[in-house]
Amino acid sequence: MHRSVLVIDDSKTTRQQILEILAKTSLFSQQHAAGGVLEGFKVVIDHPVDLIICDLEMPGMDGFKFLSLLNAREELRDIPVIMLTGREDLETKIRGLEQGASDYVTKPFDPGELVARIKVQMKIKSLRDSLKESNQRLTELSNTDPLTGLSNRRCLMETLEREIQRSRRGGSTMSMIMADIDFFKKINDTYGHQVGDEVIKTVADLLRSHLRSYDLAARFGGEEFVLVLPGSSLVQAVQAAERIRTAASLLSFPPPAERLRLTISLGVATYPRGRIESVDDLVREADSALYKAKGEGRNRVAVVDIGAEGRF
Ligand code: GH3
Ligand code: MG
Ligand code: MG
Ligand code: MG
Repeated sequence: MHRSVLVIDDSKTTRQQILEILAKTSLFSQQHAAGGVLEGFKVVIDHPVDLIICDLEMPGMDGFKFLSLLNAREELRDIPVIMLTGREDLETKIRGLEQGASDYVTKPFDPGELVARIKVQMKIKSLRDSLKESNQRLTELSNTDPLTGLSNRRCLMETLEREIQRSRRGGSTMSMIMADIDFFKKINDTYGHQVGDEVIKTVADLLRSHLRSYDLAARFGGEEFVLVLPGSSLVQAVQAAERIRTAASLLSFPPPAERLRLTISLGVATYPRGRIESVDDLVREADSALYKAKGEGRNRVAVVDIGAEGRF
């Protein structure tokens, strides 16, 4: 595994001494050295660094200053720092640890002790990294629909809430499209549930391919999907819905469903428009528009009319 270390010390002799000790271990495949705080900080910004050994007492900016620079950057905060000092002074050690140092080694140090302390820090770091990874994975899973890989309803509702608030603050519009496969029960009845699942996945892929980077596609339920289009006006969202409707009608499927011609119906709603004030209003209106599209014969895009007095 590639691991890299950075040694910061104003004394060239100490730097070299530490690098030589580390070179005898197989802990790091890459070693960086710096003679001062700013030079060291530049290394951390330019290269991935897994552990830092930093002298406390240096002319100009000292080790404490280095810790505060590191702490100011979210992505650098978790790199373990072992402080090196000539002082035995307990107060200084406590101050360093409070400011984010992971450990302390007093000069003159014993090479064996330094290496042992580095190993402890590397172990803690790798445990923390894998914890972070599994947390990320868990978040992803809790937001994802397992069949299609699209966002699930939970993630959709959170996104709608966030986007409606953003529109409210920034005075921009946002739209949502609710799409439902036409006569899907018949597809299940004719080809079986498994083919039905494949059809749902194909429609999900189609929706995904129509997204811009800041849009979101979610599976709302069985064969119902929602697209969130931040920044889109009603007209733009209707155009997008129309493109998706046409693309869906051109889909073809592998045997045994090679004769299947599928259509979808779509309802569009926009905030701000009419009396929509909340996410619930928006979802209700997209659902009404979808219901209207079904009622008017399916395979179409519909929008709810706003009456003369702004009612719908
Ligand atoms: P409409 O045009 O009015 O939408 O007709 P429809 O047949 O599509 O009606 P409806 O939306 O009520 O039916 C959806 C069906 O989808 C009912 C349910 O059995 C089926 N379904 C729901 N979830 C899944 C799923 O995950 N996989 C499969 N294969 N079928 C599902
Ligand atoms: Mg020094
Ligand atoms: Mg349906
Ligand atoms: Mg349905």
